[in-house]
Amino acid sequence: MDENQQVSEPEEFVMSTVTGIHHVTCIAGDPQENVDFYTGVLGMRLVKKSVNQDVPDTYHLFYADGEAHPGADLTFFPWPTLPPVQKGVGLAVEVSLAIPKGSLEYWEDRLATAGVNSQEREVRHGEQAIRLSDPHGLELALVETADEREFTPWSQSPVPAPHQIRGLHAVRLWERDVAETASFLVETLGFAMVGEENGWRRYGINGGGSGRHLDIRPMPNESRGSWGTGGIHHVAWRVPDDAAELAVRERISAAKRRPTEVIDRFWFKSVYFLEPGGVLFEIATDGPGFTVDEDLATLGEHLVLPPWLEPHRREIEDALPPLAVRV
Ligand code: ZN
Repeated sequence: MDENQQVSEPEEFVMSTVTGIHHVTCIAGDPQENVDFYTGVLGMRLVKKSVNQDVPDTYHLFYADGEAHPGADLTFFPWPTLPPVQKGVGLAVEVSLAIPKGSLEYWEDRLATAGVNSQEREVRHGEQAIRLSDPHGLELALVETADEREFTPWSQSPVPAPHQIRGLHAVRLWERDVAETASFLVETLGFAMVGEENGWRRYGINGGGSGRHLDIRPMPNESRGSWGTGGIHHVAWRVPDDAAELAVRERISAAKRRPTEVIDRFWFKSVYFLEPGGVLFEIATDGPGFTVDEDLATLGEHLVLPPWLEPHRREIEDALPPLAVRV
């Protein structure tokens, strides 16, 4: 065959793109302080209490909306003994959370009452936002959006339903060389550039919007960042099902990003790889979701272990610090 005729299938390209942010995983300090902040102050629901599958003497905590929709899920490995994150290129440096339009004033009052340090309002691509840090230094933003989100309020949240966090809005990355990451996002994952503002370049899926974009800042003179408490461990992107995941994995492999095999995380199936700038990315399926091993009504109340760790439940539970949702 004439090799000049080997062109990629347009149909495959359309089918094998990600659809938005699935979850973001961060590194926390003390686990009880983490639970108190995300459930008590931000009013999110603890939807899964598990362990780090590679380091089972540490928790893996998941917060989301009332029904744990994909795209709503912020997760933490509490590792109090790690040094603080060293912010730098090759890391995600901020997670923003979507709040309903008109609720920023409520949140400013709530954060002030809780003694949380937050910054002056700013406008990002026409949306009102405030920046804040969690108790372990993780940089967050609350961004008002009118975009449609899959969302179910959490009935036991201390935050009234009309003001509750709707899900993950966006992530911000620092990169030494934006060009390589940009072409990977566009050619392999299906993003398009949607704008640039105040030094941040915005890339979006399907035109962007809440939960479907990321911002990249070129920082050519900044040194490489490293993981620590208050840092972001990885960013996971949604795919609707196993077939889409395999198709995206093929494209990542063809782009020489050396993706892992598909790993079954029970609540979703995952593939990990480093994007060209060094940020750890994951592809995760929308299903089966957090109700696969617990009832919706009692999500997050009991420690859930993967089957191979179940025989060691007693030792694992004894080694973990006690943890309570104190809303
Ligand atoms: Zn993940």
